[in-house]
Amino acid sequence: MFWVYDNDKLVYRNTISSNVTGFQSFRPKTAQNNLLSKFFFSCSLIETDATFSFDVSSSVILSHYRMGLLTKGSPLTWAETIPHIEYIKKHGIKQFINLYHRLKSRHGDQLKWGDEIEYTIIKFDHENKKVRVSCRAEELLNRLQAEEQVNAMLGTANRFLWRPEFGAYMIEGTPGMPYGGLIACFNIVEANMKLRREVVKKLLKKDETCLSISFPSLGVPGFTFPDVPADKTNDDAANSIFWPEQAVFLGHPRFKNLTKNIKGRRGSKVAINVPIFKDTNTPSPYVEDLSAFGGPDDTRDAKPDHIYMDHMGFGMGCCCLQVTFQAVNVDEARWLYDQLTPITPILLALSAATPIFRGKLSNVDSRWDIISASVDDRTLEERGLEPLKNSKWVIDKSRYDSTDCYIYPCSVGYNDIPLQYDETIYQQLIDGNIDEPLAKHIAHMFIRDPHQVFRERIEQDDEKSSEHFETIQSSNWMNMRFKPPPPDAPEIGWRVEFRPTEVQLTDFENAAYCCFVVLLTRMIISFRLTYLMPISMVTENMKRAQQKDAVLSQKFLFRKGLAECKSAPENLKGSEKCGPPSQDIEEMSIDEIINGKKNGFPGLISLIRQFLDSADVDVDTRCTISQYLNFISKRATGEISTLAHWTREFVQSHPAYKHDSDVNDTIVYDLMKKVCSQDLNYSTQIFSDGCHLH
Ligand code: ADP
Ligand code: MG
Ligand code: MG
Repeated sequence: MFWVYDNDKLVYRNTISSNVTGFQSFRPKTAQNNLLSKFFFSCSLIETDATFSFDVSSSVILSHYRMGLLTKGSPLTWAETIPHIEYIKKHGIKQFINLYHRLKSRHGDQLKWGDEIEYTIIKFDHENKKVRVSCRAEELLNRLQAEEQVNAMLGTANRFLWRPEFGAYMIEGTPGMPYGGLIACFNIVEANMKLRREVVKKLLKKDETCLSISFPSLGVPGFTFPDVPADKTNDDAANSIFWPEQAVFLGHPRFKNLTKNIKGRRGSKVAINVPIFKDTNTPSPYVEDLSAFGGPDDTRDAKPDHIYMDHMGFGMGCCCLQVTFQAVNVDEARWLYDQLTPITPILLALSAATPIFRGKLSNVDSRWDIISASVDDRTLEERGLEPLKNSKWVIDKSRYDSTDCYIYPCSVGYNDIPLQYDETIYQQLIDGNIDEPLAKHIAHMFIRDPHQVFRERIEQDDEKSSEHFETIQSSNWMNMRFKPPPPDAPEIGWRVEFRPTEVQLTDFENAAYCCFVVLLTRMIISFRLTYLMPISMVTENMKRAQQKDAVLSQKFLFRKGLAECKSAPENLKGSEKCGPPSQDIEEMSIDEIINGKKNGFPGLISLIRQFLDSADVDVDTRCTISQYLNFISKRATGEISTLAHWTREFVQSHPAYKHDSDVNDTIVYDLMKKVCSQDLNYSTQIFSDGCHLH
């Protein structure tokens, strides 16, 4: 059977052959089908084996593929999901075990990597000096993805890929193909990002623009275009008093469904409280009068001295920058996952870009804890607010938070956070010959329940599919992600994703951060250095990294000296070489970690430079990389401020700012105009020492 979504209703389109819920191959009957068949072969969601013809118009299919997601079926509500949870977990684990053993000996994949940038589409209202987010993502994606369809039919390469994101005003862009291992690739990263932005801008209407920022006025009355007020009686908008359903991307049911199911599992809507920045005229205690739109829940959940928010969109509607890279084999991927974990807070602090939430200056500089709270589906019992009765554990973190364990065998000495997991699931992994550290990591992820279950896809072939595994893995949103190869894409190997970075305003900066992270991986592999520290310290550093001006105001726990890893992947033969965990840890500033400390840690940048000296790098590429490294180095010293710092200064010196933490429409309007303008000091600062856009 073939089901598609039509105006959000499940529509039965055709009987093709009995009990078939997807496509794998079909015998093309006409020239048009021939094109379509080629098109379907390139779609990773193609799954079951069936030979059929169909009378569904190509436009219907194309328009549904256009979202990059051929709808998989009808999503279950939370109540409908509950009876299937254990089954899905059991089979998700089975799928992982099968996948692991099928691909564990895969070796020799080259470095490939790629970025993901999320953009916000905004619209200026010059007459009223107001800026809104423009909820046209679906329309824009239809046009942006048209190029992908043509390329798929013609067999030509994509320049970029565009995907929907949580907000109806957001789009995600990635390079069309991952970059390869040649260092010269660093020369094209920024150019691709620049072109991506230009392509989007060409599709925009007058007064619209595309910015790689998290919009500061999300949830403020009238923040969307078209202007749709929040309706707390609307269950589809998770009963938010600030967030209208239309600000969620509705082109695919998954975002709305996820929002509702998180609320369903938690037992109430989410409550996000960010500490307010107390300025000279900010009332103390700061207590918002929510009586105009809130109910008793809101008055109860809104903490004094905090900015209160009540919808997943306040977090997932922020924009991020992520980098995924491929490892030579599974061991290297696991090792890199661990080595990069302690670096994640450093990059979070260095990229701080989000000081305003719901139009108010907050006391933090980044989005991390806000997203974490925005998808926190833990029950009252799991949050430790009621004695355990129906839930199994008290769980310290939301499903969006930093990782609780390292996964490479020799790192286990540093795993000092007690892990919750279901013994049966753990045993299933051990019985399936998954080693202990990996089994614990997967079992710990599987304490989370699935939120995206499709009625037609509960029964699966566990040899061929990894969908149940992915449902849980991809909604454990951690600072790092260990990505097994997909079961059906032989060109993709074991990968690791670096996820903490805040998206930057300019392509130059985004390229700099991505290249920095990729270069770090090369340097770490090449010199076999280790940065491991007890994992609880990483959790602590993540907290510090979000503090106001963390780059300058905070110290971070970090390895004091240079230490070579005695058990880097090729050397791994059992655990005898692992040795006891190092105690060689001290508190360092970001400057010391990045630029080095006299008679101490040499600094990540000088290590990367040493790596580059030993590599064969052409002059042009070295020049590009140098500019990126100089920029990162200056961010670390404070010579170039973070976007968060710059934004705070802008707000605090704006004539309309009353020093009461309120960032009103006029200030946001001028702020957005400033970030779009040519005379942006912030940018000139960055480019002043010879850095230039290509
Ligand atoms: P996610 O699951 O994080 O959304 P995506 O599929 O959007 O992941 O891809 C993230 C990035 O990974 C993209 O920039 C893409 O180019 C890159 N990528 C794709 N294939 C590979 C690969 N084999 N190795 C490394 N990166 C890859
Ligand atoms: Mg993606
Ligand atoms: Mg990603």
